[in-house]
Amino acid sequence: MTRVRANLGRVRDPSVSRYTAGRLSPIRRATDLRRLRDEKFDVLVIGGGVTGAGAAVDAASRGLKVALVEARDFAAGTSSRSSKLIHGGLRYLEQLELHLVHEALTERGLLATRLAPHLVRPVPILVPLPAANPVKRVWQRGYYGLGVAAYDAFAGVFGGGRGMPLHRHLSRDGARHLFPSLRADKITGAIRYYDGQMDDARLVVNLARTAAAQGAAVVTSARVTGFVREAREVVGVRVRDLESPGSPEFEVRARTVVAATGVWSDDMSEMLRDVGVRPGLRVRASKGVHLVVPRSAITGEAGLILRTATSVLFVLPWGGHWIIGTTDTDWELDRSHPAASARDIRYLLDQVNAVLDRPLTTDDIEGVYAGLRPLLSGEADSTSKLSREHAVVEPMLGLLMVAGGKYTTYRVMAADVIDQAVRRLGGEFRASRTDQLPLLGADGYAAAWRDRQDMARRHGVTTGVVEHLLERYGTLTVHLLAMMEAEPGLAVPLDGAPEYLAVEVAYAALAEGALHLDDVLTRRTRISIETTHRGAESAEHAARVMGAVLGWDETVRTREVEHYLARVTAERQSQTMPDDLAADAARVGAPDVRGLAADRGHHAAPHDLLEVDL
Ligand SMILES: Cc1cc2nc3c(=O)[nH]c(=O)nc-3n(C[C@H](O)[C@H](O)[C@H](O)COP(=O)(O)OP(=O)(O)OC[C@H]3O[C@@H](n4cnc5c(N)ncnc54)[C@H](O)[C@@H]3O)c2cc1C
Repeated sequence: MTRVRANLGRVRDPSVSRYTAGRLSPIRRATDLRRLRDEKFDVLVIGGGVTGAGAAVDAASRGLKVALVEARDFAAGTSSRSSKLIHGGLRYLEQLELHLVHEALTERGLLATRLAPHLVRPVPILVPLPAANPVKRVWQRGYYGLGVAAYDAFAGVFGGGRGMPLHRHLSRDGARHLFPSLRADKITGAIRYYDGQMDDARLVVNLARTAAAQGAAVVTSARVTGFVREAREVVGVRVRDLESPGSPEFEVRARTVVAATGVWSDDMSEMLRDVGVRPGLRVRASKGVHLVVPRSAITGEAGLILRTATSVLFVLPWGGHWIIGTTDTDWELDRSHPAASARDIRYLLDQVNAVLDRPLTTDDIEGVYAGLRPLLSGEADSTSKLSREHAVVEPMLGLLMVAGGKYTTYRVMAADVIDQAVRRLGGEFRASRTDQLPLLGADGYAAAWRDRQDMARRHGVTTGVVEHLLERYGTLTVHLLAMMEAEPGLAVPLDGAPEYLAVEVAYAALAEGALHLDDVLTRRTRISIETTHRGAESAEHAARVMGAVLGWDETVRTREVEHYLARVTAERQSQTMPDDLAADAARVGAPDVRGLAADRGHHAAPHDLLEVDL
């Protein structure tokens, strides 16, 4: 293979491939940081969750000059802690919120067929029909059957293509055949329908890379500490680079600032308090906890959606695991690290055990994660566009805030806020075209999947390895295979998490903007929730691989591992605590790794792999 110095860190240049332009390498970060200081942007987006990353893609693909700054890591907030469904929301159908169902099913179809078929896949879900007297039974089947049929019809007829198989009615035996762990005495049958499933953190990284490929400057570990204002207009932001804690804050100039900061939206409003503007929207946080248990703990080939007293509970197949969730309780404590308490865990176990023939216990649990829903509350003034789901407001000239909504409809939120930015900017900018823009790795995916056996043979790996990579990287898989060929040490399974390969850690640091061990074990891979050791047994190996790319010396490597282990310990402790207050106190014992890195030398000694032609 030709080993030519790759065009790392170069900003958009027509002669550079889209993949190369979208590579978030350490050198690219340095280049983009320089751009933040030197250039004036049309749109600066604060927040690298799905909404902010989506807004950056939307704006950049309209030809605007864009910057995206994220305080921690991509998807470090709510966007890595969801139920991982791209869904229309059966719930909204029941509430006759037909426009919301229509909107979400359209997005589901687009994502699964055109924009991200490598990341969004159909997942079968059973709606169990509870045991009841014959009259109620007929009524239930009719009611749920009609709902699910309408869901499919909406997707097929109005949703611009389903991208999902159709629903089917099942008898009790049929349901138990698909889900043997369902208690026979609890059901009379079921209806199987499909929704989309994705790895939420990976989809966000992919969006951020797609924005970078369109020329956006994309920088993580960059916290916005305030707005730069001239008269009564926001003209930029002040940023602190958390990877260089000693360095002074600097200003980034922008014609429009878009705050897509989820449950941190009120912090943005707070930054304007001295000028007395009304924020126009308020966001409150509601905590949702999920459990992860091994696939062997429950026997079933489909997911379940169960009604609870207040909401619904999903039991979803997730590779070699099940995800069970979620709860819904107000949260006013630490928003960066929401903690799950023993009470949350007990609640989830009780709910799911009501329908399982073998009850789950805490011993079955591999991982637990908690996320905060950014719910709009009160105050939506005349400048706002408020659907029940999301809002876009302009609290001050030059500043737009977008919040609420759900993961599935990120593209709609992004288009709404950038439409407003474009109106403000004037000029000849195009309308949103993200419905036509496949994310990185989507181009040619169907063909690559068809040829996966050939690909495996050509690269001397098993078909299983190629499938694993294709489902996580799409057609970018060829780059990981090239790295494995160039460096056989990367073709080995990761210690403690053999379903992942060492190359994925190297690639995360080289191309996916991962700066810390936590980024890799929690979000680029999901080892922190998929193993009973929660990544502790993978930390050393991953730190060696990552450190080789990022030029970590022994001190940095040790600190990264120690920090990660401290986080795992704090999280475990918090999950034994009886309530939120005690759980939060235990969790905040392990501080965020960002901002601790005074002596880090990220691009001191780039690994040889930077020479691989990707
Ligand atoms: C338990 C749970 C389950 C869910 N399940 C689903 C589901 O299955 N399907 C679905 O469609 N939706 C689901 N959702 C909703 C969905 O996850 C959220 O609506 C979505 O992730 C919100 O994304 P966001 O980008 O707006 O916010 P976030 O992902 O929180 O992003 C905001 C970002 O802003 C950054 N930030 C904050 N302050 C600053 C600053 N000063 N400077 C720089 N950056 C800053 C944060 O670090 C953060 O990364 C679920 C939500 C929860 C909580």
